[in-house]
Amino acid sequence: MSASTFTCPSCGRTSHNPHDVEHSYCGACHRHWRQLNPGVWDDGMGVLHVDIDACLIGNGYEVNEQTRRMLTETWLELVDQGMQIEIVG
Ligand SMILES: [Zn+2]
Repeated sequence: MSASTFTCPSCGRTSHNPHDVEHSYCGACHRHWRQLNPGVWDDGMGVLHVDIDACLIGNGYEVNEQTRRMLTETWLELVDQGMQIEIVG
């Protein structure tokens, strides 16, 4: 991810506006995002958005079917525990 763009974890819109980039703001969703970990975003309303591929890459894992499934299952366990999580990728 380039430092000069912000891509919305919900709708996928990429902004080059420096204000949007600085505040992780999506003009399409009108939401401010907070990045918790690589590939993991909090939308400020209690829902986590997880980009599995970005999560793997950001944590130094190889992206393949096995690691993708492993991480997806880890997050799905948290969904089962009642956490509000939206998984993409
Ligand atoms: Zn958006």
